Amino acid sequence: QVLDKGLEKTKTSFFSKLTKAVAGKSKVDDEVLDNLEEVLISSDVGVNTTLKIIQRIEKRVSQDKYLGTDELNLILREEIGALLSETNTGNDSEFILPKDIKPYVIMVVGVNGVGKTTTIGKLAYQFKKAGFNVVLGAADTFRAAAIDQLQIWADRVGVPMVRQQMGSDPASVAFDTLQSAVAQNADVVIIDTAGRLHNKVGLMNELTKVKNVMQKVVPNTPNDVMLVLDGSTGQNAFEQAKQFTAATEVSCLAVTKLDGTAKGGVVIGISDQFQIPVKYIGVGEGIEDLQVFNKTEFVDSFFN
Ligand code: GDP
Repeated sequence: QVLDKGLEKTKTSFFSKLTKAVAGKSKVDDEVLDNLEEVLISSDVGVNTTLKIIQRIEKRVSQDKYLGTDELNLILREEIGALLSETNTGNDSEFILPKDIKPYVIMVVGVNGVGKTTTIGKLAYQFKKAGFNVVLGAADTFRAAAIDQLQIWADRVGVPMVRQQMGSDPASVAFDTLQSAVAQNADVVIIDTAGRLHNKVGLMNELTKVKNVMQKVVPNTPNDVMLVLDGSTGQNAFEQAKQFTAATEVSCLAVTKLDGTAKGGVVIGISDQFQIPVKYIGVGEGIEDLQVFNKTEFVDSFFN
Protein backbone atom coordinates (compact mmCIF):
# COMPACT_ATOMS: atom_id res chain seq x y z
CA GLN A 1 0.00 0.00 0.00
CA VAL A 2 1.41 3.33 -1.13
CA LEU A 3 -0.51 5.21 1.52
CA ASP A 4 0.93 3.07 4.29
CA LYS A 5 4.37 3.83 3.01
CA GLY A 6 3.50 7.51 2.67
CA LEU A 7 2.34 7.82 6.24
CA GLU A 8 4.84 5.48 7.82
CA LYS A 9 6.67 8.10 9.83
CA THR A 10 3.52 9.67 11.20
CA LYS A 11 2.18 6.30 12.14
CA THR A 12 5.32 5.01 13.82
CA SER A 13 5.82 8.17 15.82
CA PHE A 14 2.16 8.43 16.74
CA PHE A 15 2.03 4.88 17.96
CA SER A 16 5.16 4.99 20.01
CA LYS A 17 3.86 8.14 21.69
CA LEU A 18 0.44 6.65 22.22
CA THR A 19 1.96 3.53 23.72
CA LYS A 20 3.95 5.67 26.15
CA ALA A 21 0.86 7.71 26.96
CA VAL A 22 -0.98 4.67 28.27
CA ALA A 23 1.96 2.72 29.67
CA GLY A 24 1.11 1.02 32.97
CA LYS A 25 -2.50 2.20 32.80
CA SER A 26 -5.52 0.01 32.36
CA LYS A 27 -8.20 2.68 32.30
CA VAL A 28 -8.50 6.04 30.64
CA ASP A 29 -8.25 8.61 33.43
CA ASP A 30 -7.29 12.28 33.58
CA GLU A 31 -3.61 11.49 33.36
CA VAL A 32 -4.07 9.38 30.24
CA LEU A 33 -6.19 12.14 28.71
CA ASP A 34 -3.48 14.70 29.49
CA ASN A 35 -0.90 12.45 27.88
CA LEU A 36 -3.13 11.91 24.89
CA GLU A 37 -3.54 15.65 24.51
CA GLU A 38 0.22 15.98 24.33
CA VAL A 39 0.48 13.18 21.78
CA LEU A 40 -2.06 14.85 19.50
CA ILE A 41 -0.52 18.29 19.81
CA SER A 42 2.96 16.98 19.13
CA SER A 43 1.59 15.17 16.05
CA ASP A 44 0.50 18.59 14.76
CA VAL A 45 -3.20 18.00 14.99
CA GLY A 46 -3.44 21.57 16.30
CA VAL A 47 -4.69 22.82 19.66
CA ASN A 48 -8.36 23.40 18.78
CA THR A 49 -8.85 20.08 17.08
CA THR A 50 -6.94 18.28 19.83
CA LEU A 51 -9.26 19.76 22.46
CA LYS A 52 -12.25 18.75 20.40
CA ILE A 53 -11.03 15.15 20.22
CA ILE A 54 -10.20 15.06 23.94
CA GLN A 55 -13.66 16.41 24.79
CA ARG A 56 -15.29 13.74 22.69
CA ILE A 57 -13.31 11.03 24.45
CA GLU A 58 -14.07 12.54 27.86
CA LYS A 59 -17.72 12.39 26.99
CA ARG A 60 -17.47 8.74 26.16
CA VAL A 61 -15.56 8.03 29.35
CA SER A 62 -18.26 9.69 31.42
CA GLN A 63 -21.03 7.94 29.49
CA ASP A 64 -19.52 4.48 29.76
CA LYS A 65 -18.14 5.13 33.28
CA TYR A 66 -15.12 3.02 32.36
CA LEU A 67 -12.93 3.04 29.30
CA GLY A 68 -10.01 0.65 29.12
CA THR A 69 -6.79 1.87 27.56
CA ASP A 70 -6.91 -1.19 25.31
CA GLU A 71 -10.00 0.34 23.72
CA LEU A 72 -8.47 3.77 23.29
CA ASN A 73 -7.13 3.07 19.79
CA LEU A 74 -10.52 2.08 18.55
CA ILE A 75 -12.27 5.04 20.15
CA LEU A 76 -9.68 7.49 18.90
CA ARG A 77 -9.99 6.09 15.43
CA GLU A 78 -13.76 6.45 15.50
CA GLU A 79 -13.62 10.01 16.76
CA ILE A 80 -11.00 11.12 14.25
CA GLY A 81 -12.97 9.44 11.48
CA ALA A 82 -16.12 11.26 12.59
CA LEU A 83 -14.27 14.56 12.72
CA LEU A 84 -12.88 14.13 9.21
CA SER A 85 -16.32 13.17 7.92
CA GLU A 86 -17.66 16.59 8.82
CA THR A 87 -15.73 18.19 5.97
CA ASN A 88 -14.61 15.29 3.81
CA THR A 89 -17.85 13.88 2.52
CA GLY A 90 -16.62 11.79 -0.38
CA ASN A 91 -14.74 8.55 -0.12
CA ASP A 92 -13.26 8.30 -3.59
CA SER A 93 -9.92 6.95 -4.58
CA GLU A 94 -10.17 7.75 -8.29
CA PHE A 95 -9.19 10.93 -10.05
CA ILE A 96 -12.61 11.90 -11.31
CA LEU A 97 -14.27 15.14 -12.44
CA PRO A 98 -17.92 16.18 -12.43
CA LYS A 99 -19.44 15.15 -15.77
CA ASP A 100 -21.57 18.24 -16.19
CA ILE A 101 -18.81 20.85 -15.91
CA LYS A 102 -16.47 21.41 -18.84
CA PRO A 103 -13.86 22.66 -18.63
CA TYR A 104 -13.45 22.07 -14.92
CA VAL A 105 -11.16 24.85 -13.75
CA ILE A 106 -8.84 24.44 -10.79
CA MET A 107 -6.97 27.51 -9.59
CA VAL A 108 -4.01 26.53 -7.45
CA VAL A 109 -2.71 28.75 -4.66
CA GLY A 110 0.03 28.38 -2.06
CA VAL A 111 3.42 29.79 -1.13
CA ASN A 112 6.63 28.84 -2.91
CA GLY A 113 8.30 25.64 -1.91
CA VAL A 114 5.24 23.78 -0.63
CA GLY A 115 5.13 21.55 -3.70
CA LYS A 116 2.65 23.48 -5.81
CA THR A 117 4.31 22.84 -9.17
CA THR A 118 4.91 19.18 -8.40
CA THR A 119 1.31 18.72 -7.30
CA ILE A 120 0.00 20.34 -10.50
CA GLY A 121 2.26 18.07 -12.55
CA LYS A 122 1.16 14.93 -10.71
CA LEU A 123 -2.48 15.94 -10.98
CA ALA A 124 -2.18 16.61 -14.71
CA TYR A 125 -0.63 13.16 -15.08
CA GLN A 126 -3.46 11.46 -13.19
CA PHE A 127 -6.19 13.30 -15.07
CA LYS A 128 -4.56 12.49 -18.38
CA LYS A 129 -4.23 8.87 -17.36
CA ALA A 130 -7.92 8.85 -16.50
CA GLY A 131 -8.68 9.96 -20.06
CA PHE A 132 -9.25 13.69 -19.59
CA ASN A 133 -7.86 16.45 -21.81
CA VAL A 134 -5.76 18.67 -19.59
CA VAL A 135 -4.52 22.23 -20.15
CA LEU A 136 -2.12 23.95 -17.76
CA GLY A 137 -1.76 27.69 -17.24
CA ALA A 138 1.44 29.23 -15.88
CA ALA A 139 0.00 32.27 -14.12
CA ASP A 140 2.78 32.38 -11.52
CA THR A 141 4.58 34.96 -13.61
CA PHE A 142 6.58 36.39 -10.75
CA ARG A 143 9.43 33.93 -11.06
CA ALA A 144 10.86 32.68 -14.34
CA ALA A 145 11.76 29.42 -12.60
CA ALA A 146 8.11 28.80 -11.76
CA ILE A 147 7.14 28.97 -15.43
CA ASP A 148 10.05 26.79 -16.51
CA GLN A 149 9.44 24.20 -13.80
CA LEU A 150 5.81 23.88 -14.77
CA GLN A 151 6.84 23.59 -18.44
CA ILE A 152 9.06 20.65 -17.53
CA TRP A 153 6.08 18.91 -15.94
CA ALA A 154 3.80 19.76 -18.87
CA ASP A 155 6.31 18.24 -21.29
CA ARG A 156 6.88 15.24 -19.09
CA VAL A 157 3.16 14.52 -18.80
CA GLY A 158 2.51 15.49 -22.42
CA VAL A 159 -0.13 18.18 -21.90
CA PRO A 160 -0.30 21.70 -23.38
CA MET A 161 0.64 24.66 -21.24
CA VAL A 162 -0.21 28.31 -21.79
CA ARG A 163 2.50 30.74 -20.79
CA GLN A 164 3.62 34.31 -21.25
CA GLN A 165 6.80 36.11 -20.36
CA MET A 166 7.92 36.41 -16.80
CA GLY A 167 6.43 39.51 -15.20
CA SER A 168 3.31 39.54 -17.36
CA ASP A 169 -0.12 39.92 -15.81
CA PRO A 170 -1.27 36.66 -14.15
CA ALA A 171 -4.87 37.50 -15.03
CA SER A 172 -3.91 37.77 -18.68
CA VAL A 173 -2.31 34.31 -18.57
CA ALA A 174 -5.44 32.93 -16.93
CA PHE A 175 -7.56 34.52 -19.66
CA ASP A 176 -5.43 33.03 -22.44
CA THR A 177 -5.41 29.65 -20.75
CA LEU A 178 -9.17 29.45 -20.49
CA GLN A 179 -9.65 30.61 -24.06
CA SER A 180 -7.21 28.03 -25.27
CA ALA A 181 -8.88 25.35 -23.14
CA VAL A 182 -12.31 26.15 -24.57
CA ALA A 183 -10.93 26.12 -28.12
CA GLN A 184 -9.34 22.73 -27.49
CA ASN A 185 -12.47 21.36 -25.84
CA ALA A 186 -10.42 20.58 -22.73
CA ASP A 187 -11.95 18.72 -19.80
CA VAL A 188 -9.83 20.24 -17.08
CA VAL A 189 -7.70 23.33 -16.64
CA ILE A 190 -5.16 23.69 -13.86
CA ILE A 191 -3.84 27.19 -13.28
CA ASP A 192 -0.80 27.93 -11.18
CA THR A 193 -0.78 31.31 -9.42
CA ALA A 194 1.94 33.36 -7.76
CA GLY A 195 2.98 32.03 -4.39
CA ARG A 196 4.00 35.27 -2.81
CA LEU A 197 2.54 35.88 0.59
CA HIS A 198 2.49 39.63 0.25
CA ASN A 199 0.13 41.53 2.48
CA LYS A 200 -3.43 40.32 2.71
CA VAL A 201 -4.91 43.04 0.53
CA GLY A 202 -2.32 42.50 -2.21
CA LEU A 203 -2.95 38.78 -2.27
CA MET A 204 -6.70 39.27 -2.20
CA ASN A 205 -6.64 41.77 -5.06
CA GLU A 206 -4.42 39.60 -7.20
CA LEU A 207 -6.48 36.44 -6.74
CA THR A 208 -9.76 38.31 -7.19
CA LYS A 209 -8.51 39.78 -10.44
CA VAL A 210 -7.48 36.38 -11.79
CA LYS A 211 -10.90 34.96 -10.85
CA ASN A 212 -12.80 37.83 -12.44
CA VAL A 213 -10.94 37.45 -15.69
CA MET A 214 -11.57 33.70 -15.74
CA GLN A 215 -15.28 34.34 -15.42
CA LYS A 216 -15.20 36.49 -18.52
CA VAL A 217 -14.24 33.39 -20.50
CA VAL A 218 -16.11 30.67 -18.61
CA PRO A 219 -18.87 31.66 -16.15
CA ASN A 220 -18.73 30.36 -12.59
CA THR A 221 -15.03 29.55 -12.69
CA PRO A 222 -12.80 28.64 -10.99
CA ASN A 223 -14.66 25.52 -9.94
CA ASP A 224 -12.05 24.85 -7.30
CA VAL A 225 -9.54 27.03 -5.53
CA MET A 226 -7.05 24.52 -4.24
CA LEU A 227 -4.59 25.53 -1.54
CA VAL A 228 -1.39 23.50 -1.46
CA LEU A 229 0.19 23.09 1.97
CA ASP A 230 3.42 21.39 2.98
CA GLY A 231 2.38 18.81 5.57
CA SER A 232 5.87 18.67 7.03
CA THR A 233 5.74 22.28 8.21
CA GLY A 234 3.14 21.78 10.92
CA GLN A 235 2.16 25.13 12.39
CA ASN A 236 3.37 27.05 9.31
CA ALA A 237 0.82 25.19 7.27
CA PHE A 238 -1.90 26.34 9.70
CA GLU A 239 -0.68 29.92 9.38
CA GLN A 240 -0.71 29.75 5.57
CA ALA A 241 -4.21 28.29 5.61
CA LYS A 242 -5.27 31.22 7.76
CA GLN A 243 -3.81 33.78 5.39
CA PHE A 244 -5.11 32.26 2.18
CA THR A 245 -8.61 31.60 3.51
CA ALA A 246 -8.73 35.24 4.58
CA ALA A 247 -7.71 36.36 1.08
CA THR A 248 -9.89 34.11 -1.04
CA GLU A 249 -12.49 31.37 -0.87
CA VAL A 250 -10.43 28.19 -0.70
CA SER A 251 -12.55 25.19 -1.69
CA CYS A 252 -10.14 22.32 -1.16
CA LEU A 253 -6.67 21.41 0.04
CA ALA A 254 -3.73 19.40 -1.21
CA VAL A 255 -1.33 18.44 1.57
CA THR A 256 2.13 17.48 0.35
CA LYS A 257 5.28 15.78 1.68
CA LEU A 258 3.48 13.49 4.09
CA ASP A 259 6.03 10.80 3.26
CA GLY A 260 8.93 12.58 4.92
CA THR A 261 7.23 13.67 8.11
CA ALA A 262 5.82 12.53 11.43
CA LYS A 263 3.44 15.49 11.31
CA GLY A 264 0.65 13.82 9.31
CA GLY A 265 -1.81 14.87 12.00
CA VAL A 266 -1.80 18.26 10.34
CA VAL A 267 -4.26 16.87 7.79
CA ILE A 268 -6.83 16.27 10.52
CA GLY A 269 -6.30 19.62 12.21
CA ILE A 270 -6.35 21.85 9.16
CA SER A 271 -9.35 20.19 7.60
CA ASP A 272 -11.23 20.53 10.89
CA GLN A 273 -10.15 24.01 11.84
CA PHE A 274 -10.83 25.57 8.46
CA GLN A 275 -13.73 23.29 7.52
CA ILE A 276 -12.23 22.64 4.11
CA PRO A 277 -11.99 19.19 2.55
CA VAL A 278 -8.61 17.69 1.76
CA LYS A 279 -8.76 16.53 -1.83
CA TYR A 280 -5.25 15.26 -2.50
CA ILE A 281 -2.21 14.19 -0.54
CA GLY A 282 1.39 14.10 -1.72
CA VAL A 283 3.39 11.09 -0.56
CA GLY A 284 6.63 11.41 -2.52
CA GLU A 285 8.48 13.23 -5.27
CA GLY A 286 7.57 10.84 -8.09
CA ILE A 287 4.89 11.40 -10.69
CA GLU A 288 2.68 8.68 -9.18
CA ASP A 289 3.03 9.95 -5.62
CA LEU A 290 -0.24 11.84 -5.40
CA GLN A 291 -3.38 10.31 -4.00
CA VAL A 292 -6.99 11.27 -3.82
CA PHE A 293 -7.58 11.79 -0.13
CA ASN A 294 -9.76 9.01 1.17
CA LYS A 295 -10.67 9.61 4.80
CA THR A 296 -11.34 5.97 5.59
CA GLU A 297 -8.04 4.81 4.14
CA PHE A 298 -6.25 7.68 5.84
CA VAL A 299 -7.59 6.87 9.29
CA ASP A 300 -7.04 3.16 8.70
CA SER A 301 -3.43 3.63 7.70
CA PHE A 302 -2.90 5.82 10.74
CA PHE A 303 -4.10 3.12 13.08
CA ASN A 304 -3.44 -0.21 11.39
P1 GDP B 1 6.65 24.98 -5.40
O1 GDP B 1 7.70 26.04 -5.20
O2 GDP B 1 5.55 25.10 -4.39
O3 GDP B 1 6.12 24.92 -6.76
O4 GDP B 1 7.33 23.59 -5.03
P2 GDP B 1 7.86 22.42 -5.95
O5 GDP B 1 6.73 21.74 -6.61
O6 GDP B 1 8.96 22.91 -6.81
O7 GDP B 1 8.42 21.41 -4.84
C1 GDP B 1 9.43 21.75 -3.93
C2 GDP B 1 10.18 20.48 -3.54
O8 GDP B 1 9.29 19.62 -2.81
C3 GDP B 1 10.65 19.67 -4.72
O9 GDP B 1 11.92 19.18 -4.44
C4 GDP B 1 9.64 18.52 -4.83
O10 GDP B 1 10.18 17.36 -5.39
C5 GDP B 1 9.29 18.33 -3.36
N1 GDP B 1 7.97 17.71 -3.18
C6 GDP B 1 6.78 18.10 -3.67
N2 GDP B 1 5.79 17.29 -3.24
C7 GDP B 1 6.36 16.33 -2.48
C8 GDP B 1 5.87 15.20 -1.73
O11 GDP B 1 4.68 14.87 -1.68
N3 GDP B 1 6.82 14.46 -1.06
C9 GDP B 1 8.14 14.78 -1.07
N4 GDP B 1 8.98 14.01 -0.37
N5 GDP B 1 8.62 15.84 -1.73
C10 GDP B 1 7.76 16.59 -2.44
